[in-house]
Amino acid sequence: MKKEKKKNRKKKNTGRRFHSAHILVWLTAIILTGLAVRFLLDMIPKDDIDVDALLEEPVTIEIETDPPEPEYVNPVPRPDIDVQHLTINDYSRPGEATDAINYIVIHYLGNPKTTAQENHDYFESLKDLQDTSMSANFVVGLEGEIIECVPPGEIAYASNSMNHESISIENCHLDETGRFTEATYQSCVKLAAYLAAEYQIDRDHIIRHYDVTGKECPLYYVEHEDKWEEMKDDIMNYIAQYSES
Ligand SMILES: [Zn+2]
Repeated sequence: MKKEKKKNRKKKNTGRRFHSAHILVWLTAIILTGLAVRFLLDMIPKDDIDVDALLEEPVTIEIETDPPEPEYVNPVPRPDIDVQHLTINDYSRPGEATDAINYIVIHYLGNPKTTAQENHDYFESLKDLQDTSMSANFVVGLEGEIIECVPPGEIAYASNSMNHESISIENCHLDETGRFTEATYQSCVKLAAYLAAEYQIDRDHIIRHYDVTGKECPLYYVEHEDKWEEMKDDIMNYIAQYSES
């Protein structure tokens, strides 16, 4: 028994000594590491960072955002428009959106003395007749009245291949010449000016049905090229009158 105890004590002592040596090695290692880090930190040039200046400078965080687009306001007044939208149907108002509106197309009805209301009602009746497709976004009457049949931005059946990118204006007339009455002419000019300004359409994109298909529409303004040029001038002048003020 005695012998065994002695042996154990010896073992214990050896363990303690071993432990102390370990701690010493670790402490040395930590101190050396600390010194090395300190040495490395000292090697970093300090002139690069002006700490005082950084502290004095107000810290502003700039977030780049696009300024909001100013909302476009059409300078040309909206003429009196009697909105009587057609029922959505396959023959006069398909209810389909156009692509971007690039053109305003001017027409004449080719049916003397008929009124804007009669033509509107005819377009509306096509859904029941079901054999002809025809309509227009707007019809301008003999007394200058304006009826909106199909909202701009929706396809109307007036200008063939241009239907998907235009607004159509039909005009009433008194006789076979197709010449517009003064009241019709003035309303057509004001409406076209308003729409051209609204959709930012230039002079070259105000066209006749004739320019799309070669059909003699609007007849008088196909036969009298000078009167057509005059109408476009009147439209542009009407816009300019409001844009410059
Ligand atoms: Zn036409």
